[in-house]
Formats: sequence, C-alpha cells, structure tokens
Amino acid sequence: FLFATKFVNMAGNTTLTMIKPGAVRRNLIGPILGMITEHGFKVEALKLTKLSARQAAKFYEVHRGKPFYDGLVNYMSSGPIVAAIIRKDNAVAEFRELIGNTDPEKASEGTIRKLFAESLSHNAVHGSDSDENAAKEAAFFFSETERFCPEEWHCDEDMEAY
Ligand code: UDP
Repeated sequence: FLFATKFVNMAGNTTLTMIKPGAVRRNLIGPILGMITEHGFKVEALKLTKLSARQAAKFYEVHRGKPFYDGLVNYMSSGPIVAAIIRKDNAVAEFRELIGNTDPEKASEGTIRKLFAESLSHNAVHGSDSDENAAKEAAFFFSETERFCPEEWHCDEDMEAY
C-alpha cells in the first residue's frame, strides 16, 4: 500500500491550466471549466486575472527566441485569463489528453482544443507539460492560502511535492 501511494504521488496529482484571453472573450469560461470538472478534475485554486507583458514573458520563458514567442506574449497579455490548479491522479498527462494537440486541426474529437480553439496560436487553454512545471506554474499564480483541499481529496498525501 505504501509503495502504491508513493507510486501514484510520483506521477503527480495536480496541473496548472489557463483559459486563454480569446476563450475568455468568447465567454467560454463556463463550458471549459464544465468539461474539466466532468472529466474528474477537482478545482483546488481558481482566479480571473490578467498578465502584464512582463509576466507573460516570464511564464513562457522556455520559448524565448522561438518565432512565435513575441506573438504568444502579446496574445497572453491581451486580456483577462482564468488560472486554475486542478487535481486528478496523473493530472499532467490526463489533462494534456483532455486538451488535445497544440494545433486544434490535429486535436482529437471531443478535446477542449478541438471544440474551442480558434487556431494554433489562439488555442483556448494551457496545460502544464511536466510535474516540475506544474509546481512552478502553480506557484507563479497562487499562494498557499489560495489553494483549497477538502479533506476528502487527501491532498496532504502529496503536499511534500510543493
Ligand atoms: N504556439 C504558437 N505557435 C507554435 C507553437 C506554439 O503560437 O508554432 C503557442 C501556442 O499557444 C501554445 C504555446 O505557444 O499553446 C506553447 O507552446 P507549446 O509547444 O508548449 O504547446 P502546449 O504545451 O501549449 O500544447
């Protein structure tokens, strides 16, 4: 049992999502959060906020120098976003499956990007790509006092990850 618990925790149980400015503008907060919760994710932290260009540049630092970087920073700071920490076993992989391919034309039917993305650059949602980045991105948006875990979710079992 102990081994099983550790194993589950190694996979990581939280990820960070953003509903991007275009999706907020198109009034898709409700439908997207609905899909997230219908697929078994619990919402551990949630806020409507807006990134400055500086903050967006920092968030997407790994992409600095790529041809799409300036456009990405510009877009991500163009209006309000929704940021959330969401929780499910194996959250990073499970959520990337739910959002689908970065390019909505390549995304599977039924994925969030297939349903709601406008284009490759305006692709409705962000999802962390690793447990390490999920933890970094969660800390970028939320303090400890902005994260909530009802006892039933057993969040204490993997708190050591933060
Ligand atoms: N992006 C873009 N053009 C590209 C590749 C990526 O505009 O050719 C944007 C897109 O919004 C994507 C983000 O940059 O979501 C980050 O890219 P990444 O490859 O990390 O994709 P993701 O992890 O978001 O699927």
